[in-house]
Amino acid sequence: MEGSTTTATRREPRARSLGAVPLLLVLAAACAAAPPTRTNPVIDAPIALPQEPESPFPAPDPNRPWVAVVIDDLGDSPAEARPFLDVPLPLSFAVLPGAARTRDVTRMLVDRGRDVLAHVPMEPAEPGLPLPRGTLLTSMDPDTIRAVSERALSRVPGAIGANNHMGSAFTRSVVAMRPFVEVLKARGLFFLDSRTDPATVAEDVAAAAGVPAMRRAVFLDNVDEPAAIDGMLAVLETVARTRGCAIAIGHPRPGTADALKRFAATPARAVEVVPISRLVGRACATGAVLPAAPATGTAGPIDAPEAAPGDR
Ligand SMILES: [Zn+2]
Repeated sequence: MEGSTTTATRREPRARSLGAVPLLLVLAAACAAAPPTRTNPVIDAPIALPQEPESPFPAPDPNRPWVAVVIDDLGDSPAEARPFLDVPLPLSFAVLPGAARTRDVTRMLVDRGRDVLAHVPMEPAEPGLPLPRGTLLTSMDPDTIRAVSERALSRVPGAIGANNHMGSAFTRSVVAMRPFVEVLKARGLFFLDSRTDPATVAEDVAAAAGVPAMRRAVFLDNVDEPAAIDGMLAVLETVARTRGCAIAIGHPRPGTADALKRFAATPARAVEVVPISRLVGRACATGAVLPAAPATGTAGPIDAPEAAPGDR
């Protein structure tokens, strides 16, 4: 029963769509100056044509500062990502290369038109933290770093960039970072410095190698409480209004998804959330010192206070 219904439904749209087009619409289409094209809404709408993948979100408002929100640490299960796919904002996602369901989660996010980063584990300064499989270490020689990086990136197919998971030791080392960013460059990927350590050189090393590099301005959920996350979203807005744009990182926790849903529903939101790819190449997304922003009544520090970085 269900099978025959499905077949009938599948067959119907095209057969009926032309028959059901009101006469006036047909006349209007015929009278239009241009001949019918692939985009003619009357003739072509029901017919699937090959085209560029469409973003599920409208074009961002160019008159508001842009922010990107990256949800890190995904890959263990698709269920973790789903609450964030329900947030009506073009959030971006970072997937751990060696997690239990890396490929499934990556495919789900890419299929939904989301920007995906490879969330590459790097050595933390703090001893005793569990190291995920494939963690980049400062003790590795450059060839090993390149090989481990290649393997990590190939496990997140469709990723358009990478950011560091942990890395408070690795991102301090120019020597260790260099072979990693060479691999990014060869693959045409950008780098987002998660800034898990204030002494990170990762963004500078990437930029010097010609890799588009950006930096995290705000961690949303270091304190996993609703008021604290709302407060960090407000800080994100302040940074974006001061600099022109800003990048936040959050984690796959229910409180973070709920806060982003509240943020999405805020009518007075001062900023536009965009996929992180929209910020590539924009100085405001880097550590560059920018000229003073136009007076908007939001004068504040150029950078948000470093929100207790640390590895996460
Ligand atoms: Zn992480």
